[in-house]
Amino acid sequence: MSQTLQAVRGMNDILPEEAELWEQFEDMIRDWLRAYGYRPIRMPLVEPTPLFSRAIGEVTDIVEKEMYSFEDSLNGEKLTLRPEGTASCVRAVLQHNMLYEGPKRLWYQGPMFRHERPQKGRYRQFHQIGVEALGFAGPDIDAEQILMTARLWDDLGLEGIRLELNSLGSVEERQQHRAALITYFEQHADQLDADAQRRLHSNPLRILDTKNPAMQALVEAAPKLMDYLGEESLKHFDGVQAILKDAGIHAHVNPRLVRGLDYYNLTVFEWVTDQLGAQGTVCAGGRYDGLISQLGGKPAPACGFAMGVERLLALWKDQGNQASAVTPDVYLVVQGDAASRFAFRVAEELRSSGLAVLHHCGGGSFKSQMKRADGSGAPLAVIIGDDEVAAGEVTLKPLRDAVEQKRVALADLAEAVNNLIFSTEDDDGSV
Ligand code: ATP
Ligand code: MG
Repeated sequence: MSQTLQAVRGMNDILPEEAELWEQFEDMIRDWLRAYGYRPIRMPLVEPTPLFSRAIGEVTDIVEKEMYSFEDSLNGEKLTLRPEGTASCVRAVLQHNMLYEGPKRLWYQGPMFRHERPQKGRYRQFHQIGVEALGFAGPDIDAEQILMTARLWDDLGLEGIRLELNSLGSVEERQQHRAALITYFEQHADQLDADAQRRLHSNPLRILDTKNPAMQALVEAAPKLMDYLGEESLKHFDGVQAILKDAGIHAHVNPRLVRGLDYYNLTVFEWVTDQLGAQGTVCAGGRYDGLISQLGGKPAPACGFAMGVERLLALWKDQGNQASAVTPDVYLVVQGDAASRFAFRVAEELRSSGLAVLHHCGGGSFKSQMKRADGSGAPLAVIIGDDEVAAGEVTLKPLRDAVEQKRVALADLAEAVNNLIFSTEDDDGSV
């Protein structure tokens, strides 16, 4: 016997119960984004590989070792499954000249692919909601993006997510800081681990992000970028912080927050929780003023963020939230040949009046069909036998309340069903 095939490691099936939870989450996300004027955009899952190496940076973890890249077997083109959405979004905006009439607020969602070691909260196919504001220069939009995420945590009823904030300054300021960092780490070369030694001249800023406990003291005492920020950068950073303060959002300024992608400048932020173990960052983003020109566009400022859907939903469930059950309004029970044809008319009639109908297909005894009806969670069974067909009627049997079943004419069906369902719901106080 051949073995059953399994999904690729680190890539998950999302089964119906879970998928319904995702849909409810996505509904909330859509409303939330609309309230801030963001419009949806959908990009391909596959992009030319150079898009990511140019946008994210050659010496980042993502480009060095996490990308699913391959050659198109027909024309040899180098392609990559997108590891993130910002680069694709900017590519699409430039390709379609979307900034010609002014700034744009855009959002997208969907799977991203990174070849990482799978563990709780870290997968090889995972999902992000990405939010990008393109063509905005001031600190107001950075602050608005942080504010709006805070509102989402509220809307979702999530607690204990804290804000980490930093400024990465300008390219020139980072270069000065980088030179100082290299000098500092060279003076302490004996204390660097292999990773840090490799990064010393390629990307010394990333050494600050090390998780190696043995290097914490060294990193703690390293030159701080904050001390290299000029007047303009500080003004922008102060601007962001002032708006957050007015909104009552506490930000922990973390000078070691550097982010794993090269395109950021000025504001960077992460929302972090301690409740998910090591994978505690649920949302991350910041400003990327250089990216648009780096990808060949007319220079324009921008900022954005991405949220990890799996991590947010895990947190949402850990904190005791539950998706509301998705059940049909009516389960249609059918006995006999004439009834089974009549049933299609009944089902369509009910659906035309806005009800969700689960039509029992596949026959079986009355008893077994009633069992299915009960298991479906529907508040009401509509029963059709040859008797009913002959009379042009159907039987309505409430499944969750001690209410007598009754027969109604087809013409009165939709109204009778709606009455029964709504009066049933009123009885137990729910809406
Ligand atoms: P990490 O430090 O956890 O690797 P990152 O800096 O690589 O995160 P970003 O590229 O900023 O992550 O992605 C934004 C968000 O997407 C993260 O904060 C996280 O919530 C989520 N995310 C990133 N990688 C994964 C993954 N492999 N599996 C699940 N979620 C992920
Ligand atoms: Mg990562």
